[in-house]
Amino acid sequence: MIKRLLLVLLASAVSASAQTSAFGVKAAPTKGVVKVVEEEADDSVVISSFRAAPSPTAKSSRTFQLSKMNKVGFAETTKELQRLFTLFASQRIVDGSPGGSSKATGQVTTVNYALLQDLGDNRFLAKAAWPASDSNETLAAGADTMAILLLEKPAKVGDTGKITGMHAGTVSLLFTATYPPLVGKRLTLRREAFVECVTLEDSPAGLQKFVESINAGADVSVLTFEQAACKKCGGFGFTREPQKGQLDKRIDCVDCAKTGKVSVVNETKFVP
Ligand SMILES: [Zn+2]
Repeated sequence: MIKRLLLVLLASAVSASAQTSAFGVKAAPTKGVVKVVEEEADDSVVISSFRAAPSPTAKSSRTFQLSKMNKVGFAETTKELQRLFTLFASQRIVDGSPGGSSKATGQVTTVNYALLQDLGDNRFLAKAAWPASDSNETLAAGADTMAILLLEKPAKVGDTGKITGMHAGTVSLLFTATYPPLVGKRLTLRREAFVECVTLEDSPAGLQKFVESINAGADVSVLTFEQAACKKCGGFGFTREPQKGQLDKRIDCVDCAKTGKVSVVNETKFVP
């Protein structure tokens, strides 16, 4: 299902000779026909994958055993299960797969947008804003940044709104701009792309279903981002460089951006 969504987002002019691609994208005029063709404005849109959404890699792992729940001496508590399920739900995309949802292939985030240009098939070029991912490795924050969105419903240029979007990586967009001051200019932009999505519902019923699936043997895990002391600076946010006859020079730590803490990805596997 997710693959299909990405394909729709990336629906490009597969055959340059075809007038219309499978997704209704008008293809570029065939080259070398006659010069007259050049007078026609080339309004074809080609979106191709440039860089896949990077997925965070777990640096540590642990197990959450349901049978140890709320027993003295174990970390498995109702509160911890709820915390992990909330994160699990935010990392799943509701779709038409047999289980009803799939693991999101990219960071799921909130995207605020103002639509700048309609690219066809519910795809839009937008001025957008979104927060950085927990690890900041997988997705840097956007603020008044151009992005490409695949929306669930038709919309029009000028619309503003907010979606839950799954980062689909960076795409390369070839198009003819229709917004000032670039009207009529044929451009290639490389931008982050987001697919509007619905995440799993964080509800008591959802949690119950989640527990049942683990007890039935489902292979389930969740990624969490935990704060740990920065190894490079020992949690101080800076390192010292000895100076001859003077006080040590403080050097800001770049690994943790002076905070003394770094985000570490942990994978928790659930077992009955
Ligand atoms: Zn540091």
